Amino acid sequence: MDSPIDHYLQRIHTEIADLKDGKPYSSIPAMANVDPDNFGIVLAIADGYVYEIGDTREEFSIQSISKPFTYGLALADRGMDDVDAKVDVEPSGDSFNEISLAEGTGRPANAMINAGALTATSLVRGSGGNSRFKRILNTYSAFAGRQLSVSERIYQSELKSGHRNHALAYLLRSFDIIESDPTPVIEDYFRQCSVMVTTLDLAMMAATLANSGRHPLTNDQVLDIAPVERVLSVMATCGMYDDAGAWMSSVGMPAKSGVAGGTIAVLPGQIGLAVYSPPLDAHGSSVRGVAVAQRLSSDLELHFVRAG
Ligand code: GLU
Repeated sequence: MDSPIDHYLQRIHTEIADLKDGKPYSSIPAMANVDPDNFGIVLAIADGYVYEIGDTREEFSIQSISKPFTYGLALADRGMDDVDAKVDVEPSGDSFNEISLAEGTGRPANAMINAGALTATSLVRGSGGNSRFKRILNTYSAFAGRQLSVSERIYQSELKSGHRNHALAYLLRSFDIIESDPTPVIEDYFRQCSVMVTTLDLAMMAATLANSGRHPLTNDQVLDIAPVERVLSVMATCGMYDDAGAWMSSVGMPAKSGVAGGTIAVLPGQIGLAVYSPPLDAHGSSVRGVAVAQRLSSDLELHFVRAG
């Protein structure tokens, strides 16, 4: 805890802890009682070295940060063309749960909004005695470098309260975008959102993306370079939903937010950043997560235009 970077992170953490804007997500009842002051920052270098400050070992649900990883697995399972036929790669400018499907075909704009994410989940294969969800969980675990698990409480809570996601999945079924029974797809999607992670896990997941799909410490090639490239591209254009343009301008890194307060950002070849702080802004992104990413990007020159 005495390198210049450690001191720098300590200072940023103290300064940004003063930001008290935003409110934790309350639409999933089991998530409502979280401590809004939880605040962790982890900077993982693509070779696996980690700098961390704050509540970095506190567990919370991954929520929408699951989406890029499931999308990557669907791409690996089905190939780019088959996935593209079901989910486009265009920013929608919509919020995460918008019912935005292409007119006529029903094809979701991208795999980061819920409609596209439900579709991506439906495209993951079960194989070799492993159910679809087991493969999703194993993939997230390989990205994190440790065995992850699901919060049954958060899963059940979202299964009961996530009416819009139920509706979206059935709508996607009506267009044959989802080709199987929507109910198990919805269940697996809610399970994937309920996987528990720490800020440290998310930073290692981000660093694995930064390291071309190879976990820097376990050396496991979790995902091939072609799907990793695609995942990072879609994170860059769509990962922050209706805030994606402002994020790209000010931070300049592919990223993904989740409503539990997690945020990841990836500088390919160099860095995986993860922040945890539950209060959210109007886009469903963590207020402090955005502030930390903007600050680090500017101070450490992480914006892709400057980082070369
Ligand atoms: N489980 C949440 C949902 O599907 C995730 C939303 C998010 O993290 O953006 O509505």
